[in-house]
Amino acid sequence: MHHKVTIEPFRIKVVEQIKLTTEEERQVFLKNANYNPFLLHSNEVIIDLLTDSGTSAMSSEQWAGIMRGDESYAGASSWQRMENTIKDLTGYTYILPTHQGRAAEHLLYSRIGGAGKVFISNTHFDTTRANIEFTGAKAIDLPIEEGKHPEVIHPFKGNLDTKALLRTIENYGPKNVAAVILTVTNNSGGGQPVSMANARAVAEICKKHSILFILDACRIAENSWYIRDHEAGYEDKTYRQIAQEMFGLADGCIMSAKKDALVNMGGFLALKDLDLAISCRTVLIITEGYSTYGGLSGRDMEAIAQGLEEVFDEDYLDYRIKSTAYLGNHLDAMGIPVIKPIGGHAVYVDARSFYPHIPPHEFPGQSLVCELYLKAGIRSCEIGSVMFGKYDEQGQLIPAEMELVRLAIPRRVYTQSHIDYVIETFRELKKERHLAKGFRITYEPPFLRHFTARFEPLGGKDSPQVAGLEKGGVFA
Ligand SMILES: *Cc1c(COP(=O)(O)O)cnc(C)c1O
Repeated sequence: MHHKVTIEPFRIKVVEQIKLTTEEERQVFLKNANYNPFLLHSNEVIIDLLTDSGTSAMSSEQWAGIMRGDESYAGASSWQRMENTIKDLTGYTYILPTHQGRAAEHLLYSRIGGAGKVFISNTHFDTTRANIEFTGAKAIDLPIEEGKHPEVIHPFKGNLDTKALLRTIENYGPKNVAAVILTVTNNSGGGQPVSMANARAVAEICKKHSILFILDACRIAENSWYIRDHEAGYEDKTYRQIAQEMFGLADGCIMSAKKDALVNMGGFLALKDLDLAISCRTVLIITEGYSTYGGLSGRDMEAIAQGLEEVFDEDYLDYRIKSTAYLGNHLDAMGIPVIKPIGGHAVYVDARSFYPHIPPHEFPGQSLVCELYLKAGIRSCEIGSVMFGKYDEQGQLIPAEMELVRLAIPRRVYTQSHIDYVIETFRELKKERHLAKGFRITYEPPFLRHFTARFEPLGGKDSPQVAGLEKGGVFA
């Protein structure tokens, strides 16, 4: 029998209570959080789709690994297991453990960045961009044209525009290009996959110009699913073999283990080049910890090693991609504008076209994020002008390319009925879409402002007085 229903290929062994709240309660919670869901308490949230990062449920084998964790300061067996697993998967020689992905970014980009340097990517993730810009270097996003249009269908919308890459390298001079970073899948660009052909083309360009080629490999297992499904010549490969082939094209990778390593904390940097690895290791030991644990406990390293095996399981990956598409396809069918095709770890709603009456400088994405929370206790993340907007010299907002709201799906956490509840909520929001109001920022820090920014609704019935924003008051 061919089954139409994709079931969760696991059963539940431990449960975690969800506190159900009312809309009235949530109005108070959201106001107290200054209309920024990052500032909500987790027990005020019913379905948490803020991020797929570090929110995975671990398997019984990973929990068994937690008990096996070797907490020796140096040369722990848990480190050896993690190192061997990563070497075998990536083919890279030098593995540097870190407490999460951005720490690995800091190690590498603080070494090769600096004023006058340029980094080029299909799309820099927010922490990637921040780590690069913090060194004084410039981060340039060059997604393919199709990737900029939510409604355009393309099997590999995460691809990097190789023609634009060549032009940009020529423009800045190869010596000034510190690295080309291919983010797989392209998180900020809609969770869209990158084809092997594109990775190969990027690798050739980098080789020809002697430019370092780095994979941001947070979701490389999910990316491999799309390559096998959509790219000719990969039908008979395993997901793991496909990932190995892609790693083989680059000079190194950064990975947040909080995504496709199925753990709650961890990351690593892996490199082919010895001199670069030694330079990064110095910073690792100064800022993270000794080189055989980074910022990790032995038990964390056991769970990462195990997670990196489990994530390539055929049934898991198939369920993972299809269950995310289940949400996206249902929203699409009811006329909610979503980025298509549906990405692997999240569904991205195009808030600009859902709320056409709210202009970008009034943050339509923030508005949808707040409506989802008020209506149903669903927490989601704005990926638009709050996250990526900039100011020109006159202080006018330069809006982001798109105004998206990301519904990120934690791995192995929610069941189909949780997702049906989300779908039902969108049906309601659609009916009331013309009533949604824009927002104004009342406080923002200079970097990664979306995490701690504060907002007030514009012209809404409960527009609050702007609270005193003395410095101490925003460090809540
Ligand atoms: C999450 C993520 C990072 C940063 O990793 P953290 O573990 O959150 O520090 C970098 N790049 C991409 C594409 C990511 O999704």
